[in-house]
Amino acid sequence: MTTTDMVDIQTLDRQPFRRLPFATETCLTCGICSSSCPASGLDGFDPRKFIRMIVLGQKAQLVASRWPWICTMCAKCENECPMEINITESVRNIRSLRPREEVPGILHKGLQAALETGNNLRLPQEDYEFIIEDVAEEIAEEPGYEGFRAPIDKKGANLLTTIHNKLVNTHTDDLKHWWKIFHAAGEDWTVPAGNWEGTSWGFFTGDDDAMKVMAGRILEHMQRLEISTLLWPE
Ligand code: SF4
Ligand code: SF4
Repeated sequence: MTTTDMVDIQTLDRQPFRRLPFATETCLTCGICSSSCPASGLDGFDPRKFIRMIVLGQKAQLVASRWPWICTMCAKCENECPMEINITESVRNIRSLRPREEVPGILHKGLQAALETGNNLRLPQEDYEFIIEDVAEEIAEEPGYEGFRAPIDKKGANLLTTIHNKLVNTHTDDLKHWWKIFHAAGEDWTVPAGNWEGTSWGFFTGDDDAMKVMAGRILEHMQRLEISTLLWPE
């Protein structure tokens, strides 16, 4: 094989095979996914067994178990799978079958809050704007950042960056890191005013309708503010 004959694996479209309804049935039970999975062994979780149970028609047991919620959706398993089985989509599909009020932890409540108020925390608008301005003021007190400001809803900016709830709650220092990089790069950037939540627990919990609403809000910000570049740090 010459260099020009070689296939760039990054450009291969693996989706057509993965989309086939019987794709999981091609599982070889080789266990490569299990050995590459950082969550393997937690509460007995094992992606190979997970796929096997789907093939054997044991979806109901999976839906009722903790396993789908142990997976971090990191996709290491499916990147290694020789049969290109879309393991994360299988996990997400099982999650979608759990009644919403039985979705574990704060995921369902947080998603409801986001749909109703625009963010997972139900943080009032004035508190959000206060935190954004307060963090910007702290940066402005540092040498070299005099006059620093965090633009909210700036029309025509080059870049829209989303905010996820931790950034305005327990991880405000992470906001500073991002914003200092923008400052050093001379970037023309902004953050959204309302409906600012960048975390999509609709994606995480397998709720397609909610996921579309959350993604649609980001798109609406970009159209309204006439911004073509999105940074979605979540
Ligand atoms: S790596 Fe793929 S083929 Fe092998 S056990 Fe896992 S899902 Fe099945
Ligand atoms: S996506 Fe889930 S099953 Fe796959 S490697 Fe990551 S944690 Fe494991």
